[in-house]
Amino acid sequence: MEVKRVVEEVREAYATGITRSYSWRKSQLTALKHLLIHKEDQIYHALKHDIGKHRVEAYRDEVGLMIKSVDYALWNLKKWMQPKKVDVPLVCFPTSGEVVPEPLGVVLIFSSWNFPIGLSLEPLVGAVAAGNAVVLKPSELAPASSNFLATNIPKYLEKTVRVVEGGPHMGEQLLEHKWDKIFFTGSSRVGRIIMAAAAKHLTPVSLELGGKCPAIIDTLTSERDIRVTINRVAAAKWGLCSGQACIAIDYLLVEENFAPLLIDFLKAKIKKTYLEPETLARIAHKQHFQRLSNFLKDPAVAVSVVHGGSFNAENMSFEPTILLNPPLDSEIMTDEIFGPMLPIITLKKIEDSIEFLKARPKPLAIYAFTTNEKLKSKIIEETSSGGICFNDAVVQFALDGLPFGGTGESGFGKYHGKFSFDEFSNGKAILRRNFLIEVSVRYPPWNERKLQF
Ligand code: NAD
Repeated sequence: MEVKRVVEEVREAYATGITRSYSWRKSQLTALKHLLIHKEDQIYHALKHDIGKHRVEAYRDEVGLMIKSVDYALWNLKKWMQPKKVDVPLVCFPTSGEVVPEPLGVVLIFSSWNFPIGLSLEPLVGAVAAGNAVVLKPSELAPASSNFLATNIPKYLEKTVRVVEGGPHMGEQLLEHKWDKIFFTGSSRVGRIIMAAAAKHLTPVSLELGGKCPAIIDTLTSERDIRVTINRVAAAKWGLCSGQACIAIDYLLVEENFAPLLIDFLKAKIKKTYLEPETLARIAHKQHFQRLSNFLKDPAVAVSVVHGGSFNAENMSFEPTILLNPPLDSEIMTDEIFGPMLPIITLKKIEDSIEFLKARPKPLAIYAFTTNEKLKSKIIEETSSGGICFNDAVVQFALDGLPFGGTGESGFGKYHGKFSFDEFSNGKAILRRNFLIEVSVRYPPWNERKLQF
């Protein structure tokens, strides 16, 4: 069906007011949960086809996580929808004030290919909970997942949620229409296109973009702490869609004396856990594979490889790769990597990591593995990022109570849990008075006597 018709139909459906009631929102969220449960196997097949994701990883990062998000919205929906009373100054007595959330209207959601189910449905949960109608455009680079959503969403949800499939050309067609909100997950290049198109209609946008998420690894002395750190660092690189995630660890910052030990531990971890092709998701598409292999073809980068470095164009896979001090002006250190290469940058003192980060674009997340409370405080106070996670990585995404989103070049707009509800709502300010008390000093004519009040 042509885009114009879909947009008209969704607008007409929204205009009936059907999406506003608590019962409608609840029914749609419940339907979404049923879709996830009934079609679980189809989702695993789609994710295997698109990115070679293992079923366990797919449950952890997409199906299970989404069921959790829907449940959280269902548990809290009534509370979120209630008006929130605000403080009123005595001088305004008798007055009451409250904030009433209302839906924004018809929203357009773009999602990316790396978590093609989760990153389509996570914003959808917020948009539906907030009472909006939605057009969702999944990524064409995860075709089986996109097709799954286009086939199954109409079977479970009402016509106020529609899926439109296609690539950049379809994206451009959708952007020609007026939306009440655009929620975009993807690259900063396309994010700029989205924002320019939204500006024409003064449409509010949320941009969930990428960047380079660093992990500061302090010189840990306990062997147990080192082992736990290695488990978590490896999982946030090779165990997370092979590093193809906006919150994957991009590179490590380490004191130079500690780097050799860290590399030994990482190599052992790779050998033990990350060599099975089943464990590693595949590189999603040819263009991206080419981009990643070009990183390693740079001779100045190639000499910095201390582990791995080989790749197989036929099955689009890379060996988990560690690099030690690749040039800071090489592409692997200036671009978001989004793949299974892990550069380690050494510093004289771990505190130097703060200046290193301050000199670079603000990332979506900063990770730091340390027991040093002073260092933690310094990182919180002196650096800027969408979020910080100490002594782990990536798990912040699963906490509904934490806002998820970037700042600066990693984007803007926060979502997850109540933050999603707010992101897709207009907090309407309501002030109520009665006719009882009337203070004439507030009205003209003005005179000096009135200044005394
Ligand atoms: P992308 O920007 O290429 O595509 C994102 C979406 O935009 C897709 O649906 C695509 O079809 C659409 N699109 C592409 N060109 C368009 C155009 N000209 N007009 C309109 N729509 C267009 O991003 P991607 O390659 O799918 O995803 C990778 C990027 O996304 C990385 O930079 C990554 O860091 C980022 N990302 C961010 C988050 C987050 O939550 N912050 C999550 C996942 C990925």
